[in-house]
Amino acid sequence: MLNLVLFGPPGAGKGTQAEFLGKNFNLVHISTGDLLRTEIAAKTHLGIEAKKNIDKGELVPDSVVVDMIKGKLNAHPTANGFIFDGFPRTVAQAEALDLILEQNGMEISGMLCLQVEKQELINRLLNRGLTSGRSDDRDQSIIENRISVYERKTAPLIEFYKSKGKYIPVEGMGTVEEIADKLVQSVKAL
Ligand code: AMP
Repeated sequence: MLNLVLFGPPGAGKGTQAEFLGKNFNLVHISTGDLLRTEIAAKTHLGIEAKKNIDKGELVPDSVVVDMIKGKLNAHPTANGFIFDGFPRTVAQAEALDLILEQNGMEISGMLCLQVEKQELINRLLNRGLTSGRSDDRDQSIIENRISVYERKTAPLIEFYKSKGKYIPVEGMGTVEEIADKLVQSVKAL
């Protein structure tokens, strides 16, 4: 079974590449950002609460996303594997994920970390904001806050996965196809 974490700062291209890798390796693609946006669109209580955090560029509480992940894993008992996109984002989430997987006889195979320069991230997010309809992509100060939250709360996961021998850095600059190729090579080498 292949269980991948696709990791990187906001704007690194996780969504696009996770979708591609999911199809390529027949993995269930789980994006907590997409799940939260579905809740927001459906105006559920969870969605209304989460939107307050998302609109500020802050994270939603760990318990909310961990419960979502449990639900998705339970919904796919016969999956070939999973690709996690935008999750985990804190050490507490990574620990919870390890526990859930272990309880189901699974583990993370590798953490693919997309490496992109900061100015390129801001440019990509502002560009995406022109078409994505995502309010958190339109405002430069919110984008900068998301990157700062990434640096403070999410980047420590690099050490977390390094210490487990699961950290795989991948160059995230270049065209979508070039990056996809590098990711495929890294996964095949696992
Ligand atoms: P994304 O689509 O992954 O960029 O996520 C959009 C927003 O959803 C983030 O800026 C967070 O506010 C929230 N979010 C998504 N995934 C998580 C997560 N794993 N933990 C906490 N907040 C999350």
